[in-house]
Amino acid sequence: MPRDPLHVLQHVFGYPAFRGHQAEAIAHVTGGGDALVLMPTGSGKSLCYQVPAIVRDGVGVVVSPLIALMHDQVAALEELGVRAAFLNSTLSAAEAARTEQMVRRGELDLVYVAPERLLTERCLALLEASPLALFAIDEAHCVSQWGHDFRPEYIQLSVLHERFPTVPRIALTATADQQTRAEIITRLQLESARVFASSVDRPNIRYRVVDKDNGRKQVLDFINAEHAGDAGIVYCLSRKKVEETAEFLAAHGVTALPYHAGMSGESRARHQQRFQREDGVVMVATIAFGMGIDKPDVRFVAHLDLPKSVEGYYQETGRAGRDGLPANAWMAYGLQDVVQQRRMIEESEADDAYKKVQMGKLDAMLGFCETSDCRRMRLLAYFGESAAPCNNCDTCLNPPVSVDGTVAVQQLLSCIVRVGQRFGAMHVIDVLRGDATDKVNHWQHGELSTFGIGRERSAQEWRAVIRQAIALGLIVVDHGSYSALKVTAASRAVLKGEQPVPLREYRAPAKGKKAKKAAAIMADLPDDALPVFERLRAWRRDLAAEHGVPAYVIFHDATLKEIARMRPGTLHELRGIAGVGERKLEAYGGEILALV
Ligand code: ADP
Ligand code: ZN
Repeated sequence: MPRDPLHVLQHVFGYPAFRGHQAEAIAHVTGGGDALVLMPTGSGKSLCYQVPAIVRDGVGVVVSPLIALMHDQVAALEELGVRAAFLNSTLSAAEAARTEQMVRRGELDLVYVAPERLLTERCLALLEASPLALFAIDEAHCVSQWGHDFRPEYIQLSVLHERFPTVPRIALTATADQQTRAEIITRLQLESARVFASSVDRPNIRYRVVDKDNGRKQVLDFINAEHAGDAGIVYCLSRKKVEETAEFLAAHGVTALPYHAGMSGESRARHQQRFQREDGVVMVATIAFGMGIDKPDVRFVAHLDLPKSVEGYYQETGRAGRDGLPANAWMAYGLQDVVQQRRMIEESEADDAYKKVQMGKLDAMLGFCETSDCRRMRLLAYFGESAAPCNNCDTCLNPPVSVDGTVAVQQLLSCIVRVGQRFGAMHVIDVLRGDATDKVNHWQHGELSTFGIGRERSAQEWRAVIRQAIALGLIVVDHGSYSALKVTAASRAVLKGEQPVPLREYRAPAKGKKAKKAAAIMADLPDDALPVFERLRAWRRDLAAEHGVPAYVIFHDATLKEIARMRPGTLHELRGIAGVGERKLEAYGGEILALV
């Protein structure tokens, strides 16, 4: 194997240049140093250990908790002509023995090992008797006891430093908050490691929040209009809603599958497998569908319910667009979400300090939803980074108009006061709009001075006003008393007319646009490249099925698009396209030239 990282990048992986901190981190580890790599999903962390493992003598040992992915990760490396294998509980004794033999002889560039297996005395002894290039500790945030991906075995990985003091270690994660970072360093004894941290920004993801009207219909329209035939994830809060939404989408022609913790392990694995392997599957899931999604071509992540925190939201939306191509993070959000999430926190068994933290996180999430500023700026600020308006989010592309909402909010506040701060949003809106419902009649609220003063706004519009008033801290929802709306001390100045309230101008949710025929992934391809792209995709699908691997292991969409656009006539031209390394050129070059 060649000794130069750039040469390996270009000839084995087929990419022209390193990105971001890759070159530095790779040089450091290749030179024998320890490293901690903190880079967002999709930024190319894997190359940071794969390239040094290929360049250095001996075997690179990759510790990963994601057993389900190891087969595909190894298959992808084999497609590139890299010598790779894995050791985990899915292997028979004979298969494992064969792999161990190759490790001992240094006949592999990379071996993926599950942490519990690595920590066995048998495995440690094997590694001591083998030539080692490095240890890569993937998903290193799993050492954090406070994180939701905690794996007790990860804490014991400090043994690597004790037993293999001369083998370089590289820990990698996309979870980069300060606390997790500090925990990784102390627990893995990486005090002398160099830290390579990059911005958490995901510039190819477009963020959008829409006013929830009929959520599942809206998500169907969104998929039909912008993502027909694309792979995506739709997150819902409850198992029941997951089931219902998946059924609804499937009934309307979307290849949608449910995924939640209440399903059997077997059907979950089957659905994950289909999502990973097939083109264009939409997974409707609770957050149980999380770590271990390694699909580069997820084109959208949709939220039908408000996530509990910005961290969670960012992690979930981060599963879109790992391949760097345009992707959408879309969320439908409504007043009910705010009410429901607050109730869940208040009714939980947790202590008050914990509830307060959760409320704070929810408030930050609401702030994101209600912002009139660039959404990306808001997200990055949450993670301690500053940025300029991105021009790739809904508020940048279609800036909300700020209007004077003082009168509307005054009407709302006085109506809440008139009904005794004892009624929920629905009833307050009925009174404002002058709807003589049974409840209004029962309480004689038709006689209030505020009855019908807000007739000119639709109920949907009033809900938007209420949401913003909550986000501004002018009213609260009291769950101790049937989700009643109450005014806060801050509202006094508004009621007295001393403080104006700017609100976002209301826009009715867009009604379903006409569905496009082709998958959105092709939107930026010139018309004459479309049939070529389709042919390449069909060819890739058959080949992937034949090899028993996901389609992207053969070639990424980005590579196929580039081939369709350039239509290379010679192998030399084909080699110039990113993602075409030497091994793939040799294996598939002829067929591709014939296809284009
Ligand atoms: P991460 O583990 O950080 O989420 P990956 O290692 O899976 O990201 O890389 C994301 C995608 O980017 C992969 O498809 C990978 O092949 C591609 N990639 C990584 N580095 C480069 C590079 N220097 N040039 C082009 N593509 C790259
Ligand atoms: Zn923006």
